[in-house]
Amino acid sequence: MAYVIAEPCIGTKDAACVDACPVDCIHPKKDNEKFPSAEQLYIDPVECIDCGACVPVCPVSAIFALDDLPEKWAAYAQTNSEYYGR
Ligand code: SF4
Repeated sequence: MAYVIAEPCIGTKDAACVDACPVDCIHPKKDNEKFPSAEQLYIDPVECIDCGACVPVCPVSAIFALDDLPEKWAAYAQTNSEYYGR
């Protein structure tokens, strides 16, 4: 499993992480039709290479390695996966 975007992204959707990701696995992008209605951004757990590049650029510290995901946000691992039908 990979990195996970949790609750702080909701209402923020800064998307700096999208530009930081070397494998383009964070969606939806700002120019995508799904962006306006998306509650948050999501990381594709299969495509993510665990590089951590997205973590420091997030202004609200919403991104965590799965092992570091706070217990209160544990459900977000599934939330991210489900966006991709995983
Ligand atoms: Fe992309 Fe790396 Fe973040 Fe995974 S950890 S979502 S590969 S920037």
